[in-house]
Amino acid sequence: MALTGLDIYKLLPKTNCKACGFATCLAFAMALAQKKTSLDKCPTVSEEAKTALESASQPPIKLVTIGTGDNRLEIGNETVMYRHEQKFYHPTVIGILVEDSLGAKELDARLNKIKALSFERVGIAIKPELVCIKNSSGNIDRFVEAVTKAISITGRAIALESKDPAAIEAALKASKDKRPLIIHEGASDIGPFAKIAKDNSLPLAITCSDIDEAAAMTDKAKKAGVEEIILNFKGDNISGKVQEFTYARRAALKKNFRPLGYPVMAFTAQNDEGLELCEAVSYVAKYAGIVIVKNVEKDLILPLLVTRQDIYTDPQKPVQVEPKIYEIGKVGPNSPVIVTTNFSITYFTVAGEIEASKVPTYLICTDADGMSVLTAWAAEKFTAEKITQMLNDSGIGSMVKHKNIIIPGYVSVLSGKLEEVSGWKVIVGPREASGIPVFLRNLK
Ligand code: SF4
Repeated sequence: MALTGLDIYKLLPKTNCKACGFATCLAFAMALAQKKTSLDKCPTVSEEAKTALESASQPPIKLVTIGTGDNRLEIGNETVMYRHEQKFYHPTVIGILVEDSLGAKELDARLNKIKALSFERVGIAIKPELVCIKNSSGNIDRFVEAVTKAISITGRAIALESKDPAAIEAALKASKDKRPLIIHEGASDIGPFAKIAKDNSLPLAITCSDIDEAAAMTDKAKKAGVEEIILNFKGDNISGKVQEFTYARRAALKKNFRPLGYPVMAFTAQNDEGLELCEAVSYVAKYAGIVIVKNVEKDLILPLLVTRQDIYTDPQKPVQVEPKIYEIGKVGPNSPVIVTTNFSITYFTVAGEIEASKVPTYLICTDADGMSVLTAWAAEKFTAEKITQMLNDSGIGSMVKHKNIIIPGYVSVLSGKLEEVSGWKVIVGPREASGIPVFLRNLK
């Protein structure tokens, strides 16, 4: 649990000497609690206070990194139980399981399918970021070959899962510079896996049954020198796993219980595609840092990625596009002009429908702090005055021969005032974006 300004103040010298740049020790403590300054700015803080404050300033859930370069993934370091309290910082990594027992052709086909899983939504690229190679064959050479292929074909970050420490060591020769995640399989002793993780400074996922076992095992791994740990709760029971995740998160955030202060991960157990999606989404919502799925079909992966994107969007900052004129198609001086807000989903929905209409159109997105049309209108961010200012600032008047502006049907109430303030003739468009193609094609 983070210390409050008053907690910090109690540990400071309380001399108000101003050497830290603040007028009082209390002001410094408040700034430190908000992470706006650092403890080393106070030259007279005691060693005892330093130790207490430094320990308290450690993130309650450890940040763990996997992969390198463009494939660098970060999980953990979360600070709240519920998204609306602030936001979730590090999106759940979606990984796909690949067993090394597959035949050569099947292995290549699966890896190529993973490579192709890349999408764009509201202007943001989304994809499963991790490939988890499991040593199901028990054969070290096959494991190394599968790892090598996974790296070269998919270009994604990788995780290595085996019961056999020797297989992990062999696979590391082919992948160490990729900073893979080592996954200890539950049946085996954690000791040799911890040694490999420590010797190579790699993250280690510990497989455990419940939080009691997790706490004991993280303690053992920590004593062995492993810094970056992930808790992998095993089992087929979805609600049981979500419960363990919630206990672990609560113990870390509310009680500052260090042995459980690590991100958690899960493998899906359901075989049916729909059920597997439900299972994976449950883990993304509560509170998995990594979810490894078996199914590689787009039908499962895309909704999973979209759900993750929604959960990890900052609830206080709507996703927005730049307020400006967007030219859709080969526009000319007679092209229609549509105005809407700069809420990202609104923009992409309207732009998509304009494209579908095949009528080249200017789309003006006004700055409404990323709110949707009705919300922005209610909050007075999408008003006749603001639209007029955008029409004037954007220079659209010199780009078209007409002075007709199409507004969303939901804000038809703006028509009179907008005509009066802007001098443009207002045409009320459809309420729903799906009506745009027919509307534009019938526009005289
Ligand atoms: Fe207080 Fe230390 Fe700042 Fe001096 S330097 S005012 S003792 S916090």
